[in-house]
Amino acid sequence: MTKWFDTNYHYLVPEVGPDTRFALLHQKPVAETREATAAGVSTRPVIVGPITYLLLSKSTAPGFNPIEKLDELVAVYVQLLSELKAAGAKWVQIDEPALVCSRPFDLSASVDRVYSRLTEGSDRPKILVATYFGYPGVALQTLANAPIEGIALDFTASARDCNLADLRHIGGLGEKRLVAGVVDGRNVWAADLEREYKLLVELRSLTSDLVVSASSSLLHVPIDVDLETDLEPTVRPWLAFAQQKLSEITNLTLALNEGVVEIADVIANNAQILESRRTSPLTRRDDVRSRSAAVTSASAQRKSDYATRVQMQREALQLPLLPTTTIGSFPQTTEVRNARAALRKGEMDEATYERRMRLEIDRVVRLQEDLGIDVLVHGEPERNDMVQYFAEQLDGYVFTNNGWVQSYGSRYVRPPIIAGDLSRPAAMTVRWSEYAQSVTSKPMKGMLTGPITMLSWSFVRDDQPLAETARQMALALRDEVNDLETAGIRVIQVDEPALRELLPLRDEDRPEYLKWAVDSFRVTTSGVGDATQIHTHMCYAEFGDVLDAIAALDADVISIEAARSGEVLLDELRGYDYRNEIGPGVWDIHSPRVPTKQEIVGHLQRTLEVLSPNQVWVNPDCGLKTRAYPETEASLQAMVAAAQEVRSTL
Ligand code: GLN
Ligand code: ZN
Repeated sequence: MTKWFDTNYHYLVPEVGPDTRFALLHQKPVAETREATAAGVSTRPVIVGPITYLLLSKSTAPGFNPIEKLDELVAVYVQLLSELKAAGAKWVQIDEPALVCSRPFDLSASVDRVYSRLTEGSDRPKILVATYFGYPGVALQTLANAPIEGIALDFTASARDCNLADLRHIGGLGEKRLVAGVVDGRNVWAADLEREYKLLVELRSLTSDLVVSASSSLLHVPIDVDLETDLEPTVRPWLAFAQQKLSEITNLTLALNEGVVEIADVIANNAQILESRRTSPLTRRDDVRSRSAAVTSASAQRKSDYATRVQMQREALQLPLLPTTTIGSFPQTTEVRNARAALRKGEMDEATYERRMRLEIDRVVRLQEDLGIDVLVHGEPERNDMVQYFAEQLDGYVFTNNGWVQSYGSRYVRPPIIAGDLSRPAAMTVRWSEYAQSVTSKPMKGMLTGPITMLSWSFVRDDQPLAETARQMALALRDEVNDLETAGIRVIQVDEPALRELLPLRDEDRPEYLKWAVDSFRVTTSGVGDATQIHTHMCYAEFGDVLDAIAALDADVISIEAARSGEVLLDELRGYDYRNEIGPGVWDIHSPRVPTKQEIVGHLQRTLEVLSPNQVWVNPDCGLKTRAYPETEASLQAMVAAAQEVRSTL
């Protein structure tokens, strides 16, 4: 399972090899179309396009690229189109979002071949090819030349200018239908109806068949703002979830068909809402803005370089070679969850809750001491979720009661919304870390979620560059890092598991993103003294192609998922001169399976072929929150024993 482009929705990755045979087995789209037709509903089935399907597939054989199977796969699509037509479909939408991503090879010939083949003959519905999450670039020309009947394009901020320029450049689509994604299918904000109307008027000169739409599936947004009766009344009208986006689409369509006067009052109201958002004290805080404007390169720079810091940290922490640690969370027991729920419902008072959490911290500290772990964690029992927990304590966020969006299968998340300028009114984690440090003489790691991960698992503002939101977030978190240090915490971890998730889909946009992403981490962590050890943690992705950015974070230590991805990280590190300390995960925490000591020893030995002994930390792939205690204890025992065994050979 992996994330669908740069969204937080997951899909199962198909695995395709030289011997894979394709056949149409699954009848769902055809059966549902037939059912709709029988009920008198004319529907447009949506299927993943063959190019996207194969580009997202994983090869099962070295040297084989799934795209080589394109012609074989297209034969099945020909059959599917014919069955959809028989079921009553007049149009079919074929999604090819992969066309908006940079590729090392040119896809035009494939696009041309596939869509010529699919349009041969008349035993098929009309074909609409949809691209979204960006602009398709040169592939647009190929699609425009193909004998398909329609093209859907993304006209939201990131793609708008390019798609418009490219459409003009190719002289429009003539008779082809243009489905214009002017309403953002991925954010939660009300559209600027006047601006979109003007764009649509221009687009009307580039096709004789214009359809107003959302830029992508509405799967990525919650359903209905009207359900959010607890939202601040000033903020609520700024928002548009799926239901409101549909109204935007029908209003814009009405304006195009009947004249803009038909929606004059809607536009006036919309303009007022946008103005209220622009001028609200929530979205413009002078103190936050002037602080952010004052950030310089010095704010993103530790006092000394790593070579100097590492000496001071070794002196201060006195750790053995191959120090052991964990990523932060310990199993969240039913008692812990119940206590949190009781506090939320007002059934438990603050004092009782704090006592319960402290007992849990005591238990987790004792366990780690008994196991002989070197750098301890407090276990994060007080956190419902690593983003939500901080969002609730930052100014500038708003929350929904019902704003669930699908993550995968039956799993939903409810992302908090960054609506305004961000700041931290009071310390968020200090009392927990301080308490945890007070019950042990071993170093206790402070534990924070980093700025990029905060952004990527929240809904973000669309009224300022993401880089600016990241800088505000970094400054708020920097205050927390500094306060942890003042409270005596000597090791502070800033988690950035999502660093790679926001990586732009096109190569040309990546350097700029990586620059501000790295800067935001550095601003967060650069306020502390040289002897304070900054850790970061990453997981959920293969990081080989962003190693430069990881090195540029200049974290003293990184713990990074490695076991789950079959140690590809070690191969990536082999040719890379990584200087700081690093703990490639030694076991995959996504399964309850307990690793043997021998297996971890093997892992460490392979790690030591690539990295020097005084650079390597020993830790699991990720946090232990979703695991149960018995397997956690057994696994940690094996980990510590393996570290001791390998240590004794050094
Ligand atoms: N500190 C967090 C934890 O251990 C990190 C979680 C994550 O990387 N997703 O739970
Ligand atoms: Zn992780």
